[in-house]
Amino acid sequence: MMQDPAQHDSFAAVDLTVAGLRAGSNISPQHVDSLNDQAHVLRHSDTQQALSLGKRAYALALQLDYQHGMAYSLLRWGVCSYILGHAVAEVRARLQAALELAQALDDAQAQIEALNVLAMLHTDGGAHAMALQAYDRCLALARNVGDSRFEGRTLGNMALVHRDLGQYAQALDQLQRYLALAEQADDEQGQTYALANLGQLLSALGERETAQQALERSLATRYSQQNLARQSTTRLDLGQLLLKHGEAGEARAHLLEAVELSRQTGNLRDLCDALHGLAQAYQFDKDQDAARQLLSEAHELATRADDKQRLAAVQLAMGRNLIERGDLEGAETCLQAVLRQAESLGLAALLSDAHQALASVAEARADYQVALQHFRSFHQVHEALYGEQVQQHLRGLLIRQQVQELQRQADDERNRSQELSSELTAARQADQEKQMLLQQLSAQTEMLHQLSREDGLTGVANRRWLDLQLAQEFERARRFAHPLSVAMLDLDHFKSINDRFTHLTGDKVLRAVATLLRDVCRRSDLVARYGGEEFMLLLVETPITPAASLCEKLRLRIEQFDWSTLHPALTSVTLSIGLESNARFDQLEGLLAAVDTRLYEAKHQGRNRVCAGLP
Ligand code: GH3
Ligand code: MG
Ligand code: MG
Repeated sequence: MMQDPAQHDSFAAVDLTVAGLRAGSNISPQHVDSLNDQAHVLRHSDTQQALSLGKRAYALALQLDYQHGMAYSLLRWGVCSYILGHAVAEVRARLQAALELAQALDDAQAQIEALNVLAMLHTDGGAHAMALQAYDRCLALARNVGDSRFEGRTLGNMALVHRDLGQYAQALDQLQRYLALAEQADDEQGQTYALANLGQLLSALGERETAQQALERSLATRYSQQNLARQSTTRLDLGQLLLKHGEAGEARAHLLEAVELSRQTGNLRDLCDALHGLAQAYQFDKDQDAARQLLSEAHELATRADDKQRLAAVQLAMGRNLIERGDLEGAETCLQAVLRQAESLGLAALLSDAHQALASVAEARADYQVALQHFRSFHQVHEALYGEQVQQHLRGLLIRQQVQELQRQADDERNRSQELSSELTAARQADQEKQMLLQQLSAQTEMLHQLSREDGLTGVANRRWLDLQLAQEFERARRFAHPLSVAMLDLDHFKSINDRFTHLTGDKVLRAVATLLRDVCRRSDLVARYGGEEFMLLLVETPITPAASLCEKLRLRIEQFDWSTLHPALTSVTLSIGLESNARFDQLEGLLAAVDTRLYEAKHQGRNRVCAGLP
């Protein structure tokens, strides 16, 4: 994935500035501006050249005491130094100076550009909270000046931070908003970025088909074809996706191309990522030496850029390389360092990978105790990442640990022939377990996928999936002017059900309500648990009037259900429903707030009723 260090491209600007450059003797603010414009256009394709233009612009602006020119030249200088991986302190100082000048000049665009790159520096250094804070400032500025391009790009960059933190729902939502904004504004560059980043994220979530489609669409845009840096990162993402699905040959072609392209543009971070990707392709083909060479170059680049996050990722790959080479001790030292770094930077995905790799090291040493510990941590992080509860692999290891223990006991009492026979049994058993583990692993992947969408208690969609669908369906309905209704359901006096009949019965009621809701709704409707004893219905292609009838039907079903089947003394369960449709709202937030108000009305008017925003 690639972040966009600066915005607004105009290829035409190169030609416009040539005349200005020739008249070097005749210095004017216009010359400074044109140098800055040219530096901006060249920043990805010829970063060195762009850097010297920015420096020259700065010198001239100083001479002229031209503040606007100074702000932008400092910005160009900072951005180019960032791309080239110059010392972080120097880059930050330059951008900070640009930001302060832009603030003094009340220039929103320069502030946003500077803040975006400063945020990337924070991200690289693992200071995610500070990065998000800077992006928030960008968003506010962009919305203030009504610039949807800047808004979109900032959302795109924020998504990367959320992705790194394992907050995939937020990342997905932000990228979808970015794509929608770029489509609205007919901004091809923005669409290219949004698609590429969406593709990369979908790939991380295991959505192979959609991921590949998004990446190929991104690669096919005119913008991608004219922009080598863009092409390089998209090829890298495609390569990694194909690699993940075992298509090593095709993957390697993309990755080699990515390395070549990023060598041409001189983008140090892109090159580092591309080398890392290519190394993985070689590793896949068991060419460990080639992989090691590429990784050590990537390591050097990440070190040079003082990019902790990339460095840790490369070190993880190095650790895996050492495992393959049989250097378990080296691998362990290396992976322990990754673990510490991932912990201190809060990089959840990296942390889980590091635990998994360390578990393999321990497993290879037959140290099941330690392997178990790492698998536990791996699963814990996974749980946080994907809501995963499946512990099959863990159980497999537990069994193996028990087998080992039994074997030890048997060893103590053995005679020669018994020892032989028990070893034979253990070997057979280990082989069977290996087969079992493989089967479980694929079942687990499927289950993970499901769990990331389902509410554990009731089996309906969870909040995360609801949020994603809401954003998507609302946008779709808006774009095609289709009706969409949203209902919020809240059980009445549920606390007293818990209090009188225990939480266990409360849970049963929640499950029964979920089943009733699912039975009554259509397959295309989404039934989700919003939280606690609240559910939400997303009724696609449904105007408010039929939606209100459906809600009334639901209300009756719940009221008339024979609740004593759950607990003999449980006589009545009712719920209140607030309902609105998208007809009167052009923002999702507005619609949701209105649904909430309706629910409040229903409660206020005595509960067990539907309140709808009927026309
Ligand atoms: P109201 O009619 O105003 O909605 O009253 P209420 O009692 O339903 O609302 P309140 O918000 O006071 O209480 C909600 C209760 O739902 C409190 C909490 O203990 C219970 N609850 C939330 N989640 C669960 C759950 O997963 N299982 C069970 N059994 N109870 C839950
Ligand atoms: Mg409630
Ligand atoms: Mg309630």
